[in-house]
This record gives sequence, structure tokens and C-alpha cells, in this order.
Amino acid sequence: MRIAMIGAGYVGLVSGACFAEFGVDVTVMDVDPDRIEGLHAGRMPIYEPGLDKLVAENVKDGRLTFTTDLATAVKGADAVFLAVGTPTRRGDGHADLSYVYAAAEQVAKAADGPLVLVTKSTVPVGTGREVQAICRRVRPDLPISVASNPEFLREGSAIGDFMRPDRVVIGVDDDHATTVLRRLYRPLYLIETPVLAVSIESAELIKYAANAFLATKITFINEIADLCEKVGADVHDVARGMGLDGRIGRKFLHPGPGYGGSCFPKDTLALARTAQDAGSPVRLVEATIEVNEARKARMAQRILAALGPAHAGKRVAVLGVTFKPETDDMRDAPSLVILPALVAAGVEVTAFDPQPAHARQSLPAAVRFAETAISAVQGADALVVLTEWNEFRALPPDRLKAAMKGDIILDLRNVWDPAAMRAAGFTYSSIGRP
Ligand code: NAD
Repeated sequence: MRIAMIGAGYVGLVSGACFAEFGVDVTVMDVDPDRIEGLHAGRMPIYEPGLDKLVAENVKDGRLTFTTDLATAVKGADAVFLAVGTPTRRGDGHADLSYVYAAAEQVAKAADGPLVLVTKSTVPVGTGREVQAICRRVRPDLPISVASNPEFLREGSAIGDFMRPDRVVIGVDDDHATTVLRRLYRPLYLIETPVLAVSIESAELIKYAANAFLATKITFINEIADLCEKVGADVHDVARGMGLDGRIGRKFLHPGPGYGGSCFPKDTLALARTAQDAGSPVRLVEATIEVNEARKARMAQRILAALGPAHAGKRVAVLGVTFKPETDDMRDAPSLVILPALVAAGVEVTAFDPQPAHARQSLPAAVRFAETAISAVQGADALVVLTEWNEFRALPPDRLKAAMKGDIILDLRNVWDPAAMRAAGFTYSSIGRP
């Protein structure tokens, strides 16, 4: 089998490398020449654990190549996957499909034989039909099967998620697309991964419904955490007691400063807009979006309140600014709301993140970056944990105490034990715990 992956981002590069690992001949194409040049030199454009090794091995074995030339990528391909971005369209919250439609048209033009054109990007219901129309318009001479194959990998554990998914969803219209996609995912049959073949519309909606449900689950436990703080309950006990009910499940019941990232914020917004347009609004999702946005702003207020009324000029150390651990992705990270609010209030912010490549460009210039967690907290009046990188869990409280000037800790990810932190002399608060 030979495939082309259009887009060398978090999804395209990881999926391309994983398909190559399955034994497929893969060409990953991107319009960004720096990205492709870097990949030719063995440099990864993103941080994802294990990706450099997986890419290097498959390049060495000759199954994985990179190009900026679409015709080279598409030539002789059995399937072409679109893994380009679908960010929020400026102004109205809809998904911006210009990259998907442009790529679909270019692929159709470049096709040198029948192929399956698969949308892996997260796209609103109806997009597959539009891609079909584009193909028919551009290449009435060629049978191009259009399919949807939403991706469920998580940044930070993307390779494992791709290799051992809970399920594979394929939205298909014809037997040829079904056959090609089932063959591509055949290695997963060995681990009995369910492959759901559904309509294109259902596949497109599964992705949004799943993301919106997870975002709602996080937002639900965040509100329960707020209630716990008012009534003296412990949200971890509540979450465990809820989650052990098999109908609820234990995952995604960890409270925090509000969800962020490259998917949940934009996908919940796009689903809400799609549903409004269809005359079938999803009020629960609309409430989730509103509650989550307000939460991020409230976290900044909470930090300022902890610093006291004379917060201007005080020093705050922030540990972790990426939207989650084990990624360098800053898209819609809570830090993008919280840190500018602190800076605007006159607070001096020093941040540390193990993967700061994109953070430096995304945060206000006034935010200083430290090289280590300990150097970030040096002389700080307060310490805020925003992203739960594992290395923060093991920081010795006495070292933190010795380095800091003040004694305030706001642990917005609940990584530390309240009793241990209070015993070390900190004024410690976390989310939803007494
Ligand atoms: P990304 O921004 O990391 O990568 C997109 C890449 O596509 C970029 O490198 C860009 O240069 C390239 N591109 C844009 N137009 C192109 C074109 N016409 N031809 C070739 N390349 C082009 O995006 P991502 O995070 O990989 O997300 C891609 C899609 O997958 C989105 O729809 C997203 O919602 C979805 N998704 C993302 C994740 C995730 O965790 N990041 C998970 C599941 C699904």
C-alpha cells in the first residue's frame, strides 16, 4: 500500500510515521518548506515523545519520505489523507475549512489515478459531501472515493494512541474506500481494535460529539470542585466515588484551571455553531464553552487575590505553560489568558516549561523564562502550577521554600499533597480540596 499524508503537523506526522511503522509506504507532504527541510535533516517540527526515533527508523527503512511537492506525494497513492489544520474561523466560531478545501482541490488536480481521499482533520458534518463535490468538479474523469477517518490521538501520548486506539472510525460511501481503509488499519485487528464503518456524516459527528462530551466532563468536575471548596468536601474523593460507577468512568474527572489545547476549545465552538445552523442547538455544550472561558479568567483573579491588594510589583513563578504536559503546543492554553492578566495587573511573571519553544512567542514579552523550575521560583512571592509536568511532582518542598521569598502556592493542577506543603510552611491552595 502507498499513501500520502497532507500536512506534517501533530496529526499528519504522527499518523504518517505510524502507518509507515505498520509497513505502508508513506509520503508526508507539507506546504511549509522549513518543516520539510527540517524533517529531511532529522529535526522534528513538534515535540512529541518518541516521534524522532519512530521517524528516523522508518526513514532509514525507506518507508517514510517527505516532500513539499503535492504531485510527488499523490503519485500512485492508494489513499491520500488530509491532516491540515481546521482552526476557528475569525469572528464566528465556525471551523475554518479553507485549508481542507484547498488541499482537497490540489489533491484532485494532482491525482494520476483512482484513489481514496480521506479527511483525517476534524471537520464539521457536511464537509465530506463538499469534498466530494470538489472532486467531481475538478476531476469528473476520475473515480475519487471520499471518506472520513477522524483522529482521536492525544498530544503527549500520540504514538501509543495511534498504535493502540480504543476504536477506529471510518465514514464511507462505497466498498472501495472501506476495503482500502480496512487494509490500512489491518495491523490493529491483531489487538482486536473495533473498526466502526459508518456514514460520512456520522463519522464527522462522532469526533465532535466525543470531544464535546470530554470537554463537558472536565467542566462538570471543575464546577463540582468549586462547590467542594465552598462546602468543605474533597473533589478527589468525590471524583473517585463518581468514577467508580462504570456508567460514569474514572477518566477526565480531574479538576484544573479550565480545558485548553488545539482541539476542545475550537471543536466545542464549531459544534455549537453547526448545531445552531442546523436549528438543533446543543445548549449543554454552549454552557460548557461559557463556563470554561469564565474559569480561565477567574483563575487569574484567584492568583491576584492570593497576592493581596498590593499585587503590583510582586513576583509570581509559573510552572508549566503548555496546554498539557508532554507537548510544546500552546494553542488555547489557559496560560494565554492567565499570564497576560497577571502582567496587565503589574505582576512580574517568571515562567518555566520543559518545552518552551512556542511559549516564548505566544506569551507577552514581559514574561521572563527560566531554565529550570528552581530558578523560576527564586525570589518569588508566589508559585503557580499551571501544567502538571511530571518533573514538578517530585520537587522537594524544602528546596522550593528556601528558593522563594514568599510562601504562597496555588496548585491549579493538584500535583502536591496539601498536608505536606502546609507542613513545609506554605500557604497552599489547590482546586476543590480542603
Ligand atoms: P497542525 O497545525 O499541527 O498541522 C497542520 C499542518 O498542515 C501544518 O504543518 C501546515 O503547514 C499544513 N498545511 C496546511 N495547508 C496545507 C496544504 N494545503 N497542503 C499541505 N500542508 C498543509 O495541526 P494538527 O494539530 O496536526 O491538526 C490537524 C487536524 O487534526 C485538525 O483538524 C485537528 O483538529 C485534528 N486533530 C488534532 C489533534 C491534536 O491533538 N493536535 C488530535 C485529533 C485531531
